[in-house]
Amino acid sequence: MKKQSLTAVSPTQKSVAKKADKGTLRRVLSYVGKYPFSLSFSILFSALTVLASLLVPVYVGNAIDCIIEKGVLWQPLKATLLKILALIAIGGVCQWLTSLCNNRLSSNVVRDLRRDAFYKISKLPLSYVDVRPHGDIVSRIIADADQFSEGLLLGFTQFFTGVLTILGTVALMCVGNWKIGLMVVLISPLSLFVARFVATRSSKYFKTQTRCRGNQTAFIEERISGLKTLQAFSQEDQTQRAFDEINEDLEKSSMQAIFFSSLTNPSTRFVNNLIYALVALVGGLEVALGGFTVGGLSKLLSYANQYTKPFNEISGVITELKSAFICASRIFNLIDAEEEASDFGKPDLGEVAGEIAGEVTLDNVSFSYLPEKPLIEDLNLSIKRGQRVAIVGKTGSGKTTLINLLMRFYDVCGGQVCVDGVDVREIKRSSLRKNFGMVLQETWLKSGTVRENIRLANPSATDEEVIAAAKAAHAHGFIKRMEKGYDTLLSEDGGNLSEGQKQLLCITRIMLMQPPMLILDEATSSIDTRTELKIGDALDTLMQGRTSFIVAHRLSTIVNADCILVIEQGKVVERGSHQELLQKNGAYAKLYQGQFENGSLA
Ligand code: ADP
Repeated sequence: MKKQSLTAVSPTQKSVAKKADKGTLRRVLSYVGKYPFSLSFSILFSALTVLASLLVPVYVGNAIDCIIEKGVLWQPLKATLLKILALIAIGGVCQWLTSLCNNRLSSNVVRDLRRDAFYKISKLPLSYVDVRPHGDIVSRIIADADQFSEGLLLGFTQFFTGVLTILGTVALMCVGNWKIGLMVVLISPLSLFVARFVATRSSKYFKTQTRCRGNQTAFIEERISGLKTLQAFSQEDQTQRAFDEINEDLEKSSMQAIFFSSLTNPSTRFVNNLIYALVALVGGLEVALGGFTVGGLSKLLSYANQYTKPFNEISGVITELKSAFICASRIFNLIDAEEEASDFGKPDLGEVAGEIAGEVTLDNVSFSYLPEKPLIEDLNLSIKRGQRVAIVGKTGSGKTTLINLLMRFYDVCGGQVCVDGVDVREIKRSSLRKNFGMVLQETWLKSGTVRENIRLANPSATDEEVIAAAKAAHAHGFIKRMEKGYDTLLSEDGGNLSEGQKQLLCITRIMLMQPPMLILDEATSSIDTRTELKIGDALDTLMQGRTSFIVAHRLSTIVNADCILVIEQGKVVERGSHQELLQKNGAYAKLYQGQFENGSLA
């Protein structure tokens, strides 16, 4: 596992980061701005909370003066105490209402962010998802969004009230005694300076912490999905060691972030206590010199106390907001990722080609995942309606890539792929994909009933059609034997089914879809002979009259194919029927002799 390095940031990097921060702030505000009511009420109730808390010291001061200067006069004292009580109650209720508004606001904003991020995933080209750990993407939508929500909530709850309290108390202190007011205003930047100093340092570590968390989620996700293989290879200890290392990295970066951010509060508190002590000292002298009353001093001390409090809170909030903004920018990165080129307004395949025959041609196709590593060059193919094409070749030769191009999961870099003479880039992707039935080795079933899973291919299919498809795919028998038949709930990814049964369900889906073209990736994993025969038979039925591309491993499939394409390093090195290729005594014959002896080509 590569260690994260905490290198120093260059000035240019800093200015780029600053611009990105501003961009993130603008984006966050645009999400917040969609809820003007919650926002306005949050500000209104915050202002009322602050107003109530600023008025309390005025009445407390009056009460003290009333006692000291006029003796204990119960009538006016009672009225003042009642006013204080009322203000405290109003302040409490307003604070509760503020937090309700803020909760609503932050939940709505995070819901919108998650919606946009998830929506984006379906729009991303496969190339984006292929090269990124899936766990990191999950972490952005779950953990980062959570952290952002917490930061936003804290920011809203404390930021407005903090700023309003500072402004209010400074104004009132200046009115009470301008010298003390001025002194407080002059010393307080020190507190802000300390907070800022610490926040910039901790932000660097928060970034590392967020990245490490993404890595950890990705690692866990990867290991859980490959648990069977890991256990088969007895990789438990190695996995644990690798995890410990990542976990250690996360702990280290979290500790560093917490170390710096936890410095903020004590250091600002120190400066603020200094301010409080100075106000007490100068105020005490003023009282002694007859400058103002004891009640006046109590007011000033209360304001000094109220004034410094938000500084402690705001510094904490700034650290929290920094971390929240880092998380938000990771989510925005996902939301901003370049989408697949839009095919809005393009016609369906049927609209251009009429009845779809399923003839596929590739003209001078070239393709590479990475510009510096050419893979497919000048590939020409012409497949007639209903032909079976077996694609064979060693692992990594480019078989899946060819399928990716047919399905337009990736676009060709040169040349064109045509279906019934129509360039696939000129039609809607969805209409192209609807005409290809795909059965892959890695089956994919969603959590839901068997029926729902089969209907995925054709949501409007009737129950009778579903059953007919299952019968044709030899799946009806085992479905009937399940506890609730077609209404049996499948756990996520069909965990309660065997590999063969999963395959049969996926074939049933395609039976229901009746597409003119098929893409089959034959399973290499061992499935019991009876199920394997059933699958072979179901696939045979499925292929009748359909143009089929088969990433072939079984000898029987290859021998029965109309055309065999032998692929080596992205190039079709031989093509023809089994007999023709054997006679040629070239690459295919070598593959055949070398690897078919056991009846399969893996
Ligand atoms: P096969 O299906 O025959 O095993 P693939 O078509 O998956 O082979 O891969 C062909 C080549 O392209 C391999 O060298 C592989 O490493 C590379 N490749 C596959 N997918 C990607 C990708 N998303 N990004 C970069 N290279 C890839």
